[in-house]
Amino acid sequence: MASKLTQPFSIDPSFDKDRHVRFLDMMYELLPSDYESQEINHLTLAYFTLSSLDILGALDRVDKEAIVAWVLSFQAHKKDQDDLRSGQFYGFLGSRSSQFPADALKNSNCNSSHLASTYSALAILKILGYDFSLFDSESILRSMRNLQQSDGSHMMVALVYVLVWNPMAFSFLVNIMYTYDTSDTGGATYCAIASLRLMGFIEDDLLSKGVSSSIIDIPVLLDWMMQRQAADGGFQGRLNKPSDTCYAFWVGGVLKILGGSKFVNKEALRDSLLTCQSVYGGFSKFPGELPELYHSYYGFSAYSLLEEPTLNSLCVELGITKRAASGS
Ligand SMILES: [Zn+2]
Repeated sequence: MASKLTQPFSIDPSFDKDRHVRFLDMMYELLPSDYESQEINHLTLAYFTLSSLDILGALDRVDKEAIVAWVLSFQAHKKDQDDLRSGQFYGFLGSRSSQFPADALKNSNCNSSHLASTYSALAILKILGYDFSLFDSESILRSMRNLQQSDGSHMMVALVYVLVWNPMAFSFLVNIMYTYDTSDTGGATYCAIASLRLMGFIEDDLLSKGVSSSIIDIPVLLDWMMQRQAADGGFQGRLNKPSDTCYAFWVGGVLKILGGSKFVNKEALRDSLLTCQSVYGGFSKFPGELPELYHSYYGFSAYSLLEEPTLNSLCVELGITKRAASGS
């Protein structure tokens, strides 16, 4: 037993679903103290946990009503319609500490809600099957315009993508991961392609259909993506970076959207990912490190893209399962 505990990496040659569910049970019950510095991202950590459980088909173990109430408690509410023209954004705050009074933050013009945590909140609500019919989506959509710049980008965010929560309304969201992996082009490419796909500028599965795109240079992009699968079988974020668990999703996800998954060496990628599978459940960024939620989530997502049996399929561009995206 002692030798097992000093060996955090599995020699199991397969995806250990039961162990991953036990890892997520622990994260759901109580986050380890290592996450204290991430308190401001509490909703995002919850999104990683719950979307992971959804991919693994294990959502039955959570208290959905309690989580919905907890998530909704982070929404910033306007006092009246004039507030929507005040320049503020009325989305979701990232955590309890970010609800401290604005005066305490010495910025009375800011309610501290932001796009990244708003994405996490909406994604969780979708995953849990929340009924959005009584939800104040208008305040989010209208106040989000306050963040948009003349060049089309949005303030204080790296990139935005669209989260459809019902057939009539849409919202957005952000690549939350920029707090974790900066300077990567694989993640930025995912956000660009997913955004274009959600806005209808590129068709789904272009490569399989043999259709060209008027907005992106598919051959150049495909060539660049294919060069991201490293010699060890994993994916890197850009040239001269080591392969890393999360890029199996960022790069693999773009290939999935474009219909290029057939160009991935899937066996090599599986073998590479397994070197980061922990005996405690979850995945690490690199072999030899302890597992954490971010890389675990993208490890599970990558295995879903690899069509691991018993895992639920992903709606790649939204970052939630197809089941959650369809509202079923
Ligand atoms: Zn990573």
